[in-house]
Amino acid sequence: MSNRSISRVIQPQTVAEGAGVYLQRSIAPMRSNEYDPFLLFDHFHFRAPRSGEPRGFPLHPHRGIETVTYMLEGGTQHRDSLGNVGYIGAGDVQWMTSGRGILHEEMPKKSVEGAVNGFQLWVNLPAAKKMIAPRYQGVTTDTIPTVSHDGVTVRVIAGSYRGQSGPVTEIAAQPLYADVTLGAGAAFSQPVPHDHTVLAYVFEGQGLFGAQQEQIPATHLVVFEPGDEVRAQSESGVRFLLFAGAPFNEPIVPYGPFVMNTNQEIRQAVLDLQNGTFVSPS
Ligand code: MN
Repeated sequence: MSNRSISRVIQPQTVAEGAGVYLQRSIAPMRSNEYDPFLLFDHFHFRAPRSGEPRGFPLHPHRGIETVTYMLEGGTQHRDSLGNVGYIGAGDVQWMTSGRGILHEEMPKKSVEGAVNGFQLWVNLPAAKKMIAPRYQGVTTDTIPTVSHDGVTVRVIAGSYRGQSGPVTEIAAQPLYADVTLGAGAAFSQPVPHDHTVLAYVFEGQGLFGAQQEQIPATHLVVFEPGDEVRAQSESGVRFLLFAGAPFNEPIVPYGPFVMNTNQEIRQAVLDLQNGTFVSPS
């Protein structure tokens, strides 16, 4: 088994999105598509906002991607143009496949302690699936399996860890999405397909990652080289999200909330929005 090395470590940058929500953004959609099939990763974290609810993400479209929202504290009220309404509470996941298109609203809500803490990952769709019907997989915290052993605790959202599969299924990128907590002195390893893209977002504590055993403190996104296995360990405890997915190796053209394969497909998305034909019933 080849233990993956770290290829780079990304420091998230603060960006304002939606109605002025400050996010920590590690990666954003680019034509270079370096993290194929992953397009974007944001961490939104507000501690005791001064007053009222934090500003959210009013009605906006998506086409050609999947957006994955995972909340740790607080929640997100969700509503879309197809009539889907739902609340993503603490520990819950919403895996939204936009396919040919939805218009939706995502509004963060504080916990009783005044905190909002969550993540959004964008996963690409292959060309053949960009115009499929929209689909939601709403996963509540009690249906996410937890595997615990030797100071390691893994919540499995998609893919599998030690034979335990997560509830999110039938995703084109064949993803692994796991929330991994290592206690002091614990060590973790996970086999991964050799050519899948693997990322780890360290958001609490610090740990040693990859073949180099490089010390990575929160908050950083670690990008791995190809290999058959990913490893981490920690002397003092660490928590990170681990993502793996199959690259599609197709050209992409990102434009705001759309990610398509050609300029023409982007023009069509803009036209569909202008013409009121973006969201189609069938
Ligand atoms: Mn959105």
